[in-house]
Amino acid sequence: MMELGYLRLPRIQVHVAKTVEEALKLLEQDGEQGILAGGTYTVSALAEGKTKLRKFVDISRIRELAKLREENGKAVVGALVTHAELSKLLGHRIPALKTFWKTYSAPTVANLATVGGSVMLRKSSEDLISILLVLDAELRFQTSDGESRVKLCDFMVEKASSKKLLTAVSFEQSGSCYFEKLWLGVSRIPIVSVALNVRVEQRVELARVAVSHKDGNIPNRVYAVERFLEGRVLDDSTVEKAVHQLSQSINPLSDIIAPAWYRREAAAVLFKRLLKQAAG
Ligand SMILES: Cc1cc2nc3c(=O)[nH]c(=O)nc-3n(C[C@H](O)[C@H](O)[C@H](O)COP(=O)(O)OP(=O)(O)OC[C@H]3O[C@@H](n4cnc5c(N)ncnc54)[C@H](O)[C@@H]3O)c2cc1C
Repeated sequence: MMELGYLRLPRIQVHVAKTVEEALKLLEQDGEQGILAGGTYTVSALAEGKTKLRKFVDISRIRELAKLREENGKAVVGALVTHAELSKLLGHRIPALKTFWKTYSAPTVANLATVGGSVMLRKSSEDLISILLVLDAELRFQTSDGESRVKLCDFMVEKASSKKLLTAVSFEQSGSCYFEKLWLGVSRIPIVSVALNVRVEQRVELARVAVSHKDGNIPNRVYAVERFLEGRVLDDSTVEKAVHQLSQSINPLSDIIAPAWYRREAAAVLFKRLLKQAAG
């Protein structure tokens, strides 16, 4: 054990990679290594004994992974772009990212926590996942065999592989994408969150809905509600029925923070607010 401030951390070995190629080479040399990005999850996992990994490849200095650019109107965000940078750079275009920032539980952490770290954790604590799901995000992975692309909604139900290096996430820059989160009092521990991306002309042309606890502790899209909304006029009756359908279509986890029934009810309330906001 070594002591770092108040943290009691096990001794770990860290290899620093400065390029994607170097990171891939290091990861291939030893399959027992984890990836370290912002470290905000991994360091506490080490301190709390939640991971057995003792060797890491630190990717935080790979500059090419910290860039954000546009490709055919879509945002292509490097895996190392931090939560703070993302909301600052795209919050004026995507309202959900503004709320993501306003409701962030520990803003200092947002300067370290990365987009890639959030996605790879694949769990309900990661607010960004629901937002990226409704923006039809696609993940770009790199291995020594080349690049592969996976839709985020498919990735959420795939078997996890720790061997992949996520390099970037691409998504639509929608001005009608909204996010709401309910948290627990002063501790700001998230209870449930909902994201909505909707395009309304006379009727709903496109609807994307995601909940942080779609199945247990895993965020994903709520396809039944999306299908219900598309093609309908977004009036009070549609809103009520869609909200009811959402509460019937999710199967949240019960834990010490909240029982499943409470999360279901809370998600319905948040979703109603988002639909009202979208309807103007
Ligand atoms: C006190 C606190 C409050 C927080 N509040 C919020 C909040 O309100 N909202 C919110 O959304 N988030 C919040 N977070 C951040 C969030 O929960 C995660 O800790 C963060 O997103 C992880 O990012 P990281 O870069 O630090 O990941 P790391 O800890 O470096 O890594 C996390 C996991 O992802 C893997 N990984 C990371 N990058 C890659 C990559 N490029 N390719 C492959 N695998 C990779 C790692 O191997 C590891 O398994 C908070 C965190 C803390 C500690």
